[in-house]
Amino acid sequence: MLNDSVVDKHLTRRALSGMAIDSTRQGGHLIKIETDRRLGHEWDEWDGTALDNGGDFGSPARLYFGFTAAGFIIVAGILAMGVWLLGPRLGALFGGLPGVLYYSIGGGLVLGLIWLGLIAVAVYSGRAVLPERLAERGLLLKTMNLAWRTGELFGVRRDWTGHASVAVYDRLALARQRSVSPDELLILIPRCLSRDALDGVLDIAKRNNVSAFVATRGQLARRVIKERRPKAVVAVACERDMVSGLHDVAGRVPVLGLTMTLPNGPCKDASIDLGKMEEFVRKYLGKGS
Ligand code: SF4
Repeated sequence: MLNDSVVDKHLTRRALSGMAIDSTRQGGHLIKIETDRRLGHEWDEWDGTALDNGGDFGSPARLYFGFTAAGFIIVAGILAMGVWLLGPRLGALFGGLPGVLYYSIGGGLVLGLIWLGLIAVAVYSGRAVLPERLAERGLLLKTMNLAWRTGELFGVRRDWTGHASVAVYDRLALARQRSVSPDELLILIPRCLSRDALDGVLDIAKRNNVSAFVATRGQLARRVIKERRPKAVVAVACERDMVSGLHDVAGRVPVLGLTMTLPNGPCKDASIDLGKMEEFVRKYLGKGS
């Protein structure tokens, strides 16, 4: 049964607009997701064809590192080209200006690559090398879009790079020591989970006495966080929604993000790794893995 301790009825009724309640299951009401597909805006351009690799975008963290480093170099190159093109005019303003700008661009690139190296050390050592604001709750969030845009320049779809970015983010977040009580933790799930995945999430929520919310849109997820003011969030979403959601929310509240597999295309019948979900919930509750 979706009792108050597992799913907040007030917010969930709003969140479940577009879904029906089926009371035929043993134990009380059960969420029933309508079978028609409603695409999230992140998938507006989807043409109805099957997704790569059956909708499983599992990819290694090095994809994020490679495309972020390439992105830094490309941005620095574009800036340097701008300085070169405008050089005569800049030089007319102040003779040394082009040189100063070249050094600044070069220095910024070196600093960016050093920062990326420190993030890599943190990820592969499992140690919190940098403060949160210089890592997963700050600078890292700002580089996620750069990584997937650079990946697309090389013909890699954003979902693959997004998965790698979220994997880097999670490894950094897992390296922090953080423990909250069950009523300070929130589980946010999208409307597109398969019945099995939804049952599995609700079971985990119930066993750990944590509230779970179905957020039909990213905007609603942000509102739930604003209203409930949790001290930590375990969020489930596809790579695209996760990257934009982390960008908006992770700076304000600690989040662990779990991405999904989309075997039937976007926004329908998504599956998740329930073992990982449980690991994330237990990590925030200080129960270990
Ligand atoms: S989380 Fe689900 S419903 Fe939301 S955009 Fe991604 S696939 Fe669609």
